[in-house]
Amino acid sequence: MLKIFNTITKKKEFFFSNNFKKINMYVCGVTVYDYCHIGHGRTFTFFDMIVKYLQHCRYKFNYVRNITDIDDKIIQKSKMNKEKFSSLTKRMILEMKTDFKKLGLQSPTFQPLATHHINTIINMIQVLLDNKNAYIAINGDIIFSVSSYLKYGVFSSQLLNKLQNNNKKNILNIKYNNQDFVLWKKQVFLDDPCWESPWGKGRPGWHIECSAINHDYFSSNFDIHGGGIDLLFPHHENERAQSICFNSIYQYGNYWMHVGMLLIRNKKMSKSLDNSLSLKNILKTYDSEVIRYFFLSTHYRSPLYYSQKNIQKSCIDLRKLYFILYKSSIKDLMITDKISHKYYYLSVYFYKSMNDDFNTPQAISILFKLAQKISFYLNNYHIVLAKQLAYQLKYLANTIGLLSQDPIIFLNKYNSLNKFNDINQNNYIIEIIKKRNIARKYNLWGKADKLRNKLYKLNIILEDTPCGTLWKKGNF
Ligand SMILES: [Zn+2]
Repeated sequence: MLKIFNTITKKKEFFFSNNFKKINMYVCGVTVYDYCHIGHGRTFTFFDMIVKYLQHCRYKFNYVRNITDIDDKIIQKSKMNKEKFSSLTKRMILEMKTDFKKLGLQSPTFQPLATHHINTIINMIQVLLDNKNAYIAINGDIIFSVSSYLKYGVFSSQLLNKLQNNNKKNILNIKYNNQDFVLWKKQVFLDDPCWESPWGKGRPGWHIECSAINHDYFSSNFDIHGGGIDLLFPHHENERAQSICFNSIYQYGNYWMHVGMLLIRNKKMSKSLDNSLSLKNILKTYDSEVIRYFFLSTHYRSPLYYSQKNIQKSCIDLRKLYFILYKSSIKDLMITDKISHKYYYLSVYFYKSMNDDFNTPQAISILFKLAQKISFYLNNYHIVLAKQLAYQLKYLANTIGLLSQDPIIFLNKYNSLNKFNDINQNNYIIEIIKKRNIARKYNLWGKADKLRNKLYKLNIILEDTPCGTLWKKGNF
């Protein structure tokens, strides 16, 4: 039975959906002012993986991931670019969708834009004003009063006295309390994007959009709410506070899940960091499954350290699994022979790991245990059993979006991914392979063997496949 770590209670809990086998899930999406980076990749790959895995477990999903298409950063960037804000967001949404598709993410059921929910936002703010959960500041902004919600800070474990002592942010002195936050921003500059409201022209604050979209899609009653851990405070604390006050409810959403930070040189990943960390750029070098494997090889709640070395290690690991699949060529396995009960307990361990708060590193270690067994049986000519276990390996890996490609296609891509070796040496190897292939074409077997041995002395092993020659340092 599935257990999920719930940020509300700070412990693992058994998962029950409101509607049997149908999950309503809301995940905070991207603010579209720039290209998506690898930090976004981690968060959204994780939620894509849980959709995939739970669909495999026969759950149905209603997955909503919003798009923040109005925000200070968007306005700043559009002014910097001398571009209309709507043309910037349109462009960035297209880029985001292209990158996520390339990353192998399924589209959520709905991807609503904040600017399409302005009416709900205005209605919610009016109710919050009427209920005295919000006030109009002297500059015309509408502000949520955190002191009107007694449990403010509990969800994200903020110490209230610490919050109150933090005076730095209230520079304009327009708020009653430092943690009070903006629901509606009054238009300041005439060229700023704005919408009509009962309080004059303006635009929504960030937190209210998620409350409004959740209200429109799920009537504020959903199973899972997700996002990166950096959104826990203030974004999620604020979203909960205003939705609970607006709906006069005790609980808002049943399970809140947060994905750990992606760290680079021990710093939080952010858009101000190097452009080379854009998803677009990384996907030019690495196969999407290598990136997925890299994300899933660490538990989703732990920090993940991004480095070339770590992602290359993922590449090597994934390649090992693909090579085992390639060697056991399961394509010619008869359907009736696919299942072997001999190592069924490994499947049980796999599901047990996944159902324990999506422990993907442990689940992946089980895939490697299967790979070891396959290798053993291949070496000992127990071919049918090896093939059955290879089928089991692929079946389990597919539930989390791994090993979904033809092994030959993946392994051939790997040669071009082998960039961690010296580039000159790579070119040299490719040159020798070309010469060897010409020699083989003209049946010059002696010459071909000599060329193979030349590489062997450099610890380069060749493997001829129907799609060309594969090579790797050391043993496959
Ligand atoms: Zn949100």
